[in-house]
Amino acid sequence: MPEGDVLRRTASRLDAALAGRALQRADLRWPSAAGVDLRGPLVLGTVAYGKHLLTRFDDGRTLHTHLRMDGSWRIARTGSPDASARSSRVRAVLANETWSAIGTLLGMLDVVRTRDERTLIGHLGPDVLGDDFAPGAGLDEALRRWSLRGSTPVGEVLLDQTVAAGIGTIYTAESLFAQRIWPWTPADAVVEPGRLLLVARVLMQRSVASGRPPGRVHGRLREPCPRCGTPIAVGMARRPPMERPIFYCPTCQLSP
Ligand SMILES: [Zn+2]
Repeated sequence: MPEGDVLRRTASRLDAALAGRALQRADLRWPSAAGVDLRGPLVLGTVAYGKHLLTRFDDGRTLHTHLRMDGSWRIARTGSPDASARSSRVRAVLANETWSAIGTLLGMLDVVRTRDERTLIGHLGPDVLGDDFAPGAGLDEALRRWSLRGSTPVGEVLLDQTVAAGIGTIYTAESLFAQRIWPWTPADAVVEPGRLLLVARVLMQRSVASGRPPGRVHGRLREPCPRCGTPIAVGMARRPPMERPIFYCPTCQLSP
């Protein structure tokens, strides 16, 4: 599932293609958006919040999309074969005379008034990549929400979008590895949760800048730990059907 860093990069690509211009084609292949016409108003821009994308228009509307597990947005030159978007996997096409943005296998799609965006994202915790996260009110609020999770395993709290938004399995694994924390440590036993959240933020910021996510433990089952050589292990956070794999080093991240 794409995490906050991928969403930031996706928002930047959508902005480069669409911001400041009106759409000439707006094809929403989504039952609840049938009949919605986004042609005409200027596209103000797309912002990412956690794993959500908000594409705002100057007539007071917002297109909300979410990539869920397999979704993506790609950009193609309008009129090119790539922009034809005939596949049954395409859920949205937003195009001006130069560029087309094609949303494939999107997991959510809504059109709402911009002032009502909170009905879609208001339940989320502060965005880990938000400008006000650190230093600022974002981290304080995330820590307040963290403190309400008691002894929930730390890996689950990092994945919980209502604590801090944007962290998925990659940055859960990588930030816990960086801090040498066992993923099933009770959240209220983590000595410096603020530091852990800041590590996740810095790792994500680096990926936004470089285009390369970190890969020290995530997805490296049975490969040697880059620190101690122990084969990387994987375990599950959360219960079925919501369980997610968390990669870790059984030596560097000893259970308490
Ligand atoms: Zn290790």
